[in-house]
Parts: sequence; C-alpha cells; structure tokens
Amino acid sequence: MFPEFTLRYARLPEHFFLRFDPVPVKSPRLVAFNRPLAEELGFDLDAFDADQAAEWFSGNAMPQGADPVAQAYAGHQFGHFNPRLGDGRAVLLGEVVDRAGRLRDIQLKGAGMTPFSRGADGRAPLGPVLREYLVSEAMHVLGVPTTRALAAVTTGERVFRRVPEPGAVLTRVATSHLRVGTFQYFAARDDVEAVRTLAEMAIERHYPHLLGPELAEVDEGERYLALVEAVAARQARLVARWMGLGFIHGVMNTDNCSIAGETIDYGPCAFMEAYDPATVFSSIDEGGRYAYRNQPWIAQWNLARLAETLIPLIDDDQERAVARATELIKRFEPLYEAEWLAVMREKLGLATEEECDRALVEAFLEAMKAGRADFTLAFRRLGEAVEEDAPALLERFENDEGLRAWLPGWRERLAREDAGPASIAERMRAVNPLYIPRNHRVEEALAAAAEDDFAPFDTLREVLADPFTEQPGREAYAQPAPPTEAVFRTFC
Ligand code: AMP
Ligand code: MG
Ligand code: MG
Repeated sequence: MFPEFTLRYARLPEHFFLRFDPVPVKSPRLVAFNRPLAEELGFDLDAFDADQAAEWFSGNAMPQGADPVAQAYAGHQFGHFNPRLGDGRAVLLGEVVDRAGRLRDIQLKGAGMTPFSRGADGRAPLGPVLREYLVSEAMHVLGVPTTRALAAVTTGERVFRRVPEPGAVLTRVATSHLRVGTFQYFAARDDVEAVRTLAEMAIERHYPHLLGPELAEVDEGERYLALVEAVAARQARLVARWMGLGFIHGVMNTDNCSIAGETIDYGPCAFMEAYDPATVFSSIDEGGRYAYRNQPWIAQWNLARLAETLIPLIDDDQERAVARATELIKRFEPLYEAEWLAVMREKLGLATEEECDRALVEAFLEAMKAGRADFTLAFRRLGEAVEEDAPALLERFENDEGLRAWLPGWRERLAREDAGPASIAERMRAVNPLYIPRNHRVEEALAAAAEDDFAPFDTLREVLADPFTEQPGREAYAQPAPPTEAVFRTFC
C-alpha cells in the first residue's frame, strides 16, 4: 500500500543527518487518516488496512525502502542563535514521488528521542498533534502553501507536559523540510561545501527554473542570489496569505522558515478574532516579536539570515557579496507589499487596480480595529454589503461609525469594476472564508479527544474542509468565541 521511496536527503553525505530508528510505542491506534492526500501521494487505498497503517504511522514498522534519519539544523530562536537544534523528535522516512510527479517528504513527528533531543522526551502530546492536523489541512484548503497532515496515531503511552497527556505521532508531508536553519547549521561550521550542496538541492527541488540556460551562463554568485530572491518571493507570497486570513504563526524562528515557502511547524499558532495588528498569542513570545503585524518583517529578517549563509559563495570580494545580498534583501519590502495588496484587493472584491486601493484597504482595517470587528466575519459579511448596508456586517462592529463612513467610497470604487454586484459578491465569497479553525473550537475538539471522544475533532475537520460554503446547521462554527471562552494564550 505504501508508495515507493525515492531517497534524496538520506543520500547526502553523512554529516547532514543522523540515522535514527523511531522508538516503538506501546499500542498504536490510527485516529485520523487523510485519504485524499494519501491518494495524491500514490498510496494504494484498496489495500488499506488500519492496523498496518497504525504500525507505519507510529514508527513501529518501517515501510519498505524507508531510510529513517533525523535532519541536522540550527536556528535563531526568538532572535538568539542556537548552532545545533535538529530533529529532536521527528524522523524523515524518505521522499516519494507523488501522482503529479513532485517529490514529497514523509516525516513522523513525535517518534522518540533522537541525538538532537537535548534532554527533551522526543514525543508529542495528542493535543498539539491534532491541532497541527486540523490547522495545516485548513490552511491547505484556504489556499495557503503548507505542510500537510497524512495521519495521526495515538501511542497508548502518556507524555508529561504541564499534566500527563495521551501521546501521539503525526505523519507530516512537506515539499521538503529544508529550512533557513538547515543552511545556518553548516554556515556556523564554516562548511561552505555543505551550504553549496544544500543550495543546489534547493534549486533542483524547489526552483528548477534557476537551472535554465540564463543562469547556467552566469557566475555562481548570481545563481545563489537568485535562489535567495526566489525564496524571498515565496515567503512574501506566503506571509501575505497569512495576513489575509488573520493567521499568526507564533514561532517564526529561522528553523521554522521553509526554503520551499510552506507554512511549517504549527505550534502556538492561532487565527485572530477581534482585529488588532498587535495581537500575540504564544505564551512564550513575551516581547511580542512574532505579533501579527511583525510577521512580514520577521520573514525578511529570516531571509537575511539565509543570505548570510551564502555570502562566501556569492562573491570572492566578501564586502561586495554583503552589499549585493543586502540590496536584494531590501527588495523584500516592495515584493511583500505587492503580494499583500493583491490579497487585500481580492478580499475587497476588486479585480482591477487603482492607485487609491491601498488607502481603501487601510481605511477598512482601521474601521475594523476601531470597531473591534472579528477579522474573518467582517470580510465575509462585507460581501453581503456590496449594494446596501447589511445588518450582518454592521453587527460585527462594536462601533460602526468608521465602517459607515467607509462604505460609500468602497461602493464607488466597486462601480468602476467590470463586474456587477452579484458577481462581485460571489468572488468575495470565494476568497473570504466563513469557517476558520477558531481556537475555542479547536481546543474543544482536543479536550474531547483527550477523553477518547473523536467526534468533535471529526466534525471540525469536516467543517473546515469546505470553508467558503455556508453549511446549514453549522452556523455556530463560524462564530467567534463567546467572551468566556476566548483564547488569549496558546501553548506549544
Ligand atoms: P520547535 O519549537 O517546534 O520549532 O522546535 C525547536 C527544537 O526543539 C527542534 O530542534 C525540535 O526538534 C526540538 N523539540 C521540540 N519538542 C521536542 C521534544 N518533545 N523532544 C525533543 N525535541 C524537541
Ligand atoms: Mg520547529
Ligand atoms: Mg514545533
């Protein structure tokens, strides 16, 4: 049933990873399986057997051809460099070629203590595993590049965090697990050859257009600058999409910054409810470094760290190398601004571009902030107010003065679109979701699962699989948390 492995990362020189066999668990049970994704990856589902799957996705049995390794990486955590992080609880089984011909990593997260565990237990509690499952799959259907969740297995063992919790293993699928921190690991050891190997792997796997004839001609430095630029373009696009959904990653450390430009590592992440750009959720983010509004500039900071690792390869004249890299990193700003504006235009129903659009978007956000409006529902209900004020929109605003003042200008702008009101409303519904993984709903599902009731988790999964369509009887899933249940702090 398991697709064939095409090993790549484990074929790199030995110092890129440590061979590591998952530590067996007591009694694995498959609690979630992503059939459409399995299909996409080339699993033979006619031969599907839940017991066999539980063995594989817990790490108790290795599918044929797997070569399990813990990947080496470093990273800046909250701005502080740690030269050796690595997979402390994850194991890469290997890569498979999916039905579309793309190479995908299959990784078990929570597979036991590795040589990178640094004293931690190598395990994952069920709650965070299910949260990553729900949120990453929701992000995917919301159109955000992300790692995916293939399976969740409970282990029959307890893990100890603040309280004992059921243990679990998540099977994560990624376009690759190459991170900014992977490059940093080797740069910190002055291993220029290894950095070159990683850069070539990244180009081959994620940016094959850089293999084209134009860049084959140019010098190596130009080629690696082009790589950084390509990663920057993907990160700009990624973070713009987060911002358009009110998503706060929570731990944008360089080890959680993917070279392929996917959202990776769902820890204390959450979606904002009442709009406030200063929102921070993570309990460990005391300085608010990873607040909503900082995310684009943190992505840029992370890209600067990537560029640094490539300096020895960019130019023999190191000063000139730094100058060239700096100039490139500065270009992230306009790149991101353009991506953000494109996302926001769509959300406001605009398909054409006008000079005044940025001000229009900013004024709407200002009105949302003044009105403490729920980010998701304000945009969703705005689509009902294309022609006239809709009560469903107005009631989202505690104070709707700013909104009322803004609406006529927006409608004037819509009148200059090529489409009529009905089709504008329709395209707004297609980009402004009704259902997002609201934290109190996620928490409710995780709490039930901890008591072995997976029904709320399964229902939430179903709701989130179709976020743009009204689902009769499920209105409650669209609502922000009642004040008593509002989540202000998240833990990883
Ligand atoms: P994260 O904050 O999830 O990006 O993880 C940062 C580092 O801590 C990585 O090296 C992880 O592998 C490691 N880590 C996180 N949780 C555990 C755990 N329970 N056991 C071992 N290592 C862990
Ligand atoms: Mg991480
Ligand atoms: Mg994590």
